[in-house]
Amino acid sequence: MIQKRNLIFLGPPGAGKGTLSDPLMKAEKLAHISTGDILRAEIKNGTELGKTAKTYMDQGKLVPDQVVADMVGRRLADADCKGGFILDGFPRTVAQAELLEKVMAEINMKLDAVVLFDAPEELLLQRLTSRLTCRSCGASFNKLFAKPAKEGICDNCGGELYQRSDDSLETAKNRLKVYNEQTAPLIEYYIGKNLLRKIDSSLPKAEGYAALQAVLN
Ligand code: AMP
Repeated sequence: MIQKRNLIFLGPPGAGKGTLSDPLMKAEKLAHISTGDILRAEIKNGTELGKTAKTYMDQGKLVPDQVVADMVGRRLADADCKGGFILDGFPRTVAQAELLEKVMAEINMKLDAVVLFDAPEELLLQRLTSRLTCRSCGASFNKLFAKPAKEGICDNCGGELYQRSDDSLETAKNRLKVYNEQTAPLIEYYIGKNLLRKIDSSLPKAEGYAALQAVLN
């Protein structure tokens, strides 16, 4: 069992946060909280929150801090988060990190580590624009690097694979710009709190997973 269990996965889009969350949450029985997945489910269900979020997401912009922080606060209070969790794609701004600290203090929780997924920008763009996502379970595949066994079908659940509208080249470039401007300052923020651990996420999945386990012990 890994020692550090209350986790943030930090890194640019396409760095493999979702890909490595999947085996880790299964092996360690951690709750997986992906703000992107929650927002996409809200859009699919046609909720008010989904309608608001879509206007930002379609442009590769960030959904307002308070909206996502409230969403995460509610989710962290669920019983399945008590044994540990992965926050995937949250926080994305220093303001969100501060809101998170407040919410966690209220429910007596403490972060154990922030894992930074590091990869060169060229590789991120290549991964994003060739990514395929499952409509049913949200799993990621890739036309170039991690093809599904059957074209267009999810290996995990048999769901339909599609290309996310924000994985187009133009929006993906904008998301990387937003990451560099608004999210990258969190690296210094969490170094300052002595929580940051870095892994090389240009590695193939099995090696990346081994590197991840090593920094969580
Ligand atoms: P992701 O699936 O993590 O790549 O997120 C897809 C999109 O959802 C992002 O480009 C944002 O528009 C929105 N989003 C996800 N998480 C957050 C967050 N923590 N703060 C603001 N917007 C977010």
